Amino acid sequence: MPEETGAQLGLRTLEDISALILQSHDLQETLANIVNLVAKRMATDVCSIYLLEEDGETLRLHATRGLSRLSVGITMKISEGLTGLAVETRGVVATDNAPLHPRYKYFRQTKEEKVLSFLGVPFFERNNPIGVIVVQNREARTFTPAEVSALSTIAWQISSIVSNAKLLDSVRKKEEERAFYEAEVERLKQTGAPQESSPAKRASTRQAMLSGIGIAPGFSAGKVTILNRGNSAQPVVERARPRAEEHKRLKIALEKARIQTIYLEKRVSEMLSEADAAIFHSHLMILEDRGFAGKISSLIDEGLGAQRAVSEVVGQYVAAFSQMADPYLRERSADMEDIGRRLVDALNGHQRSPDKLPENRIIIARELLPSDLATMDPGKVIGIATEKGNLNAHAAIMARALGIPAVFGVEGLLKQVGVRSFVIVDGTSGCVYLNPDQSVKLEYQRLQGEYDQKQRALEGIRELPAETPDGCRVNLLANIGLLSDVRVAHLNGAEGVGLYRTEFPFMTRRSFPDREVQASVYQKVLEGFPGMPVTIRTLDIGGDKGLSYFPHPKEDNPFLGWRSIRVSLERQDIFREQLAGILIASPHGRCNLMFPLISGVDEVRTIKGILEEVKEELRRDGKPFDEEVKVGIMVELPAAVLVADQLAREVDYFSIGTNDLIQYTLACDRNNQKVRKWYDPYHPAVLQAIKRVADAAAGAGIPATLCGEMAAEPINAVLLMGMGVRSFSLSAPCLPRVKEAIRRTPLSRARRIADRVLALETAQGIRGYLEGVEKELGAEP
Ligand code: PEP
Ligand code: MG
Repeated sequence: MPEETGAQLGLRTLEDISALILQSHDLQETLANIVNLVAKRMATDVCSIYLLEEDGETLRLHATRGLSRLSVGITMKISEGLTGLAVETRGVVATDNAPLHPRYKYFRQTKEEKVLSFLGVPFFERNNPIGVIVVQNREARTFTPAEVSALSTIAWQISSIVSNAKLLDSVRKKEEERAFYEAEVERLKQTGAPQESSPAKRASTRQAMLSGIGIAPGFSAGKVTILNRGNSAQPVVERARPRAEEHKRLKIALEKARIQTIYLEKRVSEMLSEADAAIFHSHLMILEDRGFAGKISSLIDEGLGAQRAVSEVVGQYVAAFSQMADPYLRERSADMEDIGRRLVDALNGHQRSPDKLPENRIIIARELLPSDLATMDPGKVIGIATEKGNLNAHAAIMARALGIPAVFGVEGLLKQVGVRSFVIVDGTSGCVYLNPDQSVKLEYQRLQGEYDQKQRALEGIRELPAETPDGCRVNLLANIGLLSDVRVAHLNGAEGVGLYRTEFPFMTRRSFPDREVQASVYQKVLEGFPGMPVTIRTLDIGGDKGLSYFPHPKEDNPFLGWRSIRVSLERQDIFREQLAGILIASPHGRCNLMFPLISGVDEVRTIKGILEEVKEELRRDGKPFDEEVKVGIMVELPAAVLVADQLAREVDYFSIGTNDLIQYTLACDRNNQKVRKWYDPYHPAVLQAIKRVADAAAGAGIPATLCGEMAAEPINAVLLMGMGVRSFSLSAPCLPRVKEAIRRTPLSRARRIADRVLALETAQGIRGYLEGVEKELGAEP
C-alpha cells in the first residue's frame, strides 16, 4: 500500500467522496466516480460496486473501473462467487489467489481472468446488506488490515448514498401516486360527487369525542391555543432574487438556525436534563452537515429561491424518515420538520414567541415539535393534543418528563377544533373531548377530583417507607433509561435505581460513545441518587432494541438470536469500553453492575474474567474506581432459573426480569399481539420459576430484585412479596400505588395469598382468585 496509513487513506477518500456526492445528482454517476477514485487511491487494477436487488438474492454490477464496461448491469446470485460470499457471510472476503478459492466463479462478461487478489466488503442499510464494494489486483496482493479498514469506511459511506438515493426514489414514486389520486379526486368532484361542507365554520362549538394515543397520563380541561394550523400545506411564494443573494440568505439563515438550536439545547438541558437536550444536538449535526446544506445550495443553483429549496430538501428528508420501518427513526421526521421550520423562520426574519401564551392553555397542534415545547413556558400548558406523533416522538418524551397530560395521533383534530373550543384532554385513556356537554364536564371534574386526591394521597406516602403493617420492609426502586427519569424517580419516592437500561444513551447518538463519554452520563445518574444504589445494566441490544449505527444480522427469530450479553461477549471492544465507562463513574455513587440475558455459570465466569482485566487496565492507567462494585445478573431465561442455585454462588445479587422470563418460559414474543393471550404472568410455570429464583437467592443469602413490568400491578407486588421477593424495580410512576398496597397488606396475608396461588393449577383460576383478593383488599380501610 502507498505511504499513507489505512486510516488516513480512508479519511481522505471519504472527504473526496463527500465532495463527489455534492457534485453529482445521480446515483449511477456518483458510483462511477467513486470506483475511479478508490481504484486510484488504493492502487488497484479493478474497483467495482454491486448493489443487491429487491429480491435480496441478486447482485447487480452498477459501476466498475477495470472490468469490461459492457459488464455493467450483469447480475449474479449471492450464492455464486466471492462477491456473493461477502453478502452471504455479511463480512469481508479477502484472498490473494481468487481462482483457488472454493467459492470462486468466473463471470465471462467481466473479462477478469488475469485478476488474482480479491477484497470485497459488504455494506448495509440498517442491518441488511445492500451491496458490496470489491477491489481486485492482477498480481497476488495480500490486503493489509489497514486497507481492509479503509475500504470498510468507504463502504459505510456508500451505504448512506445508496439508501438516500433509494429513499428519494420512493419519495418520488409516492409523490407521483399522490398527484394521481389528487387528480382523481378532482375529477370525481367535477363529475358531481357529493362534497363535504367546510367544517371550520362550526368548529368552535362542535361537540365530539376523538381518540388518539395517550402519551402522558392525567386529565386537563380548558381553553385552547392552536399552533401552526396547516403550516405544512402553505405554498411557498417568494419574490425572485439574484442567485448570489439567495445563497447569502441561506448562509445567514443556517447560521441563525444553528445559534437558535444551541440556545434551545441549553434551555432544555436546564429545563429537563442534558440527555433530553441531546435531541437538539442531533438537530445541530444536521444543520452543520455538508450534505444537507449542499442539497439546498444545488436547488438554488437550479433556480429555486432559498425558502423553496429549504422546503424541498426538508420535505425529501421528512418523507424519507416517515417511510422507515423502525418506529424510533420514523419519529425523527418530526425533528426534520422542526429544523426546516427554524430555517424558514430564519430566512424570513420571523421570531417565534410562544412565551406569550395565556395561562392554563391546552395546546392543539397538527404536530408538536421538540422546539415548540422547549420555547414554551411549561407552567402555562395544562394539556396537549395533536394530530400527529407517537409514543416515541421526542415531544412525547418531553411531555412525559414535564408531567403534562397529552394525547397524540388524534385524527381530524384540527378540522374539528376551533379557537373558542373548550377541550378536555385525558392522557390516561387517550381521549379528547371537544365542547363536552355539562354531564361529561361534571364526570371529568369528578374524575379529576379523584385523581388529584389519589395523587395527594400518594404524595403523602412518598417519604414513608414501603413497609407492611407487620413490619416487613420492601425496597422500591426505579427502572430508568433517560436522565430525565431521575427527576421522575424522585418525585415518586424511588429509593434508588434497580435497573438503568443503558441502551438509551447509546440510542440518542450516532456512533458508540467512548468510555469517557459514557462515564459522564453514568456519573450523572449516580450523582442523581446520592447514597442510594444504582444498578447499571450493560447493553441489552438485539431483540426489539437496535442501534442505527450498529449493523445487526437479519435474524428469523431475533429474540432467540444475537442479543444482549451475547453481543457484548462477541464484541468485546464495545463491552470492555462500557465496563470501563461504568467503573470510571463508579466512585460517584453506590454503583452496581448488572449483566442481562445470562444463561449459565460459564458465562458469568467469563464476564467476571473480562471485568477483572478491565479493572487491571484501569489500575495501570491510574484511573480510580470503586473496588467494591457489586456484580449481579438478570435471571430472565428458563435456563438461568434451572441453575439458579449455582448462579447464586457466583454473583452478589439477582434481578428477575419477568418481561423476558415470561416470553421465554411460554415461548411468546413479548411484542406480538397475536400471541398476547399466551403471554401470561399468571401461568403457574412463570410463578413457580419466580419462586424458585427467590428461594435460590434466599438460600445463598443474596438479594433478589424483581424488575419486570409484572410487579407494576399492586396485587402482583403483594403476591410476589408473599412469595419471598423483597425488592422491586419499576417504572417510577407505578411506585406509589405499589407502595400503598404494601403498606396496607400484612406480610402474613401476602404469604397466605401466595400459598394459595402457588397451589392453583391454571392461570385463569389464579386470575379469578386474585381479582377477588383485590376487591377485598380495596374494601379494607
Ligand atoms: C425484563 O426482561 O424483565 C427486563 C426488565 O428487561 P427488559 O425489559 O429491558 O428486557
Ligand atoms: Mg430483559
